[in-house]
Amino acid sequence: MTDQIDYHVSDCPVLAVVIPCYNEAEALPLTMPRLLDVLDSMIRSGAISADSYVLCVDDGSRDGTWQCIAALHASDRRVRGIALAHNRGHQYALLAGLMTVKDECDAAVSIDADMQDDPNAIATMTERYRQGAEIVYGVRSSRQTDTWFKRNSARAFYRLQNAMGLQSVYDHADYRLMSSRALDILSQYREQNLFLRGIVPLIGLKTDIVTYERHERVAGESKYPLAKMLAFSIDGITSFSAKPLRWIFMTGLTLLLLDIAVAVYVLCSYFSGDTISGWSSIMLSVWFLGSLILMAIGVVGEYIGKIFTEVKARPRFNIREAIK
Ligand code: UDP
Ligand code: MG
Repeated sequence: MTDQIDYHVSDCPVLAVVIPCYNEAEALPLTMPRLLDVLDSMIRSGAISADSYVLCVDDGSRDGTWQCIAALHASDRRVRGIALAHNRGHQYALLAGLMTVKDECDAAVSIDADMQDDPNAIATMTERYRQGAEIVYGVRSSRQTDTWFKRNSARAFYRLQNAMGLQSVYDHADYRLMSSRALDILSQYREQNLFLRGIVPLIGLKTDIVTYERHERVAGESKYPLAKMLAFSIDGITSFSAKPLRWIFMTGLTLLLLDIAVAVYVLCSYFSGDTISGWSSIMLSVWFLGSLILMAIGVVGEYIGKIFTEVKARPRFNIREAIK
C-alpha cells in the first residue's frame, strides 16, 4: 500500500454522508435539513470538520430527484450530488457514492434517504470512530415499526445466511460508518454481484456497534417490495457461498450409504422369491447409479465452487497495522 496516506484516525475528521436516492423527491426536502442539523451540531461541538458534507447519489430516478438535489445544493453548498446513468439498485448506488467520497473524506456514513434510520446515531458513530473504530455498524434496537411478516422473514434469512457461512451483522442494514482506509480496502473487492453487508465484515479492522431506533419513512413509499427483498437475500447467499454445491456431493454420499440397506433388502426379497423378474436388478442399479451421478455432479460442483471464488479475486489479506 502507499506510504504517503496517513491512515490514522483523525481528531477532527471530514465526514461524508452518502445517501442513495431512488425516486426520493418527496423525502429529500424533509431529510436534508435534519441531516444538515446533525452535521451543524457536530461541527459546533468540534466532533467533525466544517468541510464535512452530504453526497446524494441519484440512482436513475424518474421523479425529479435530481432537480431536488440541485436545488438543495443551491441553498447549501455542503450538499453534493452524483447521478447514475440508469437505475442500478441500492447497493450499486451506495458503492458509487462511497467510491466517490473515498479520497475526499476521513470517514463516510451511509444512510437511506427516508430517515428510517435515526440520523442522531451519526454523532455516536463518529465518536466511536474517533476512539479508533474504523467500521461502525448501525444496529436496530427493535423492529417495532416493521410488519410481522418483514420481521420474521428477515430473521429467517439471517439464519439461513449464517448457516451458509455468510457472516452478516444481525439487524444491521446499510447504515454504517467506514473510515477512508476501510473504503480503500472495500474498493479492492471487485465482484460484480454486490452484497455490501456480507463484504464489509470481511474487511476486518477494528469495528464497533451503535444501536438506534428504526422509524417510519418520512415520505414516499418503500422501494423494496417483497420480490426485490427475496431476490436480494438469495443474491446474498449465492454471492458468498459455494456450500449448496457441496451439499450435492454429500447427498450423493448419503444415498450411497443408504444403498447398502437397500441392497440388503432387495437381495433378501430376491432370494426369498417374492419378486417379479427384473425388479431386483433395476432397483440395485437405480440406487447405485443415482448416488454415483449425484456424487459426480458434486465433484464438478467443487471445481465450480473454486472457480466462483477465483473469479471474485477478493483480496487474500488486509493489513491492519505495521511497525516500521
Ligand atoms: N434505493 C436506491 N435504488 C433502488 C432502490 C432503493 O438507491 O433501486 C434507495 C432508496 O432511495 C433509499 C434506500 O435505497 O434511500 C432504501 O430503500 P427503501 O427505504 O425504499 O427500502 P426499505 O427501507 O423499505 O427496505
Ligand atoms: Mg427505507
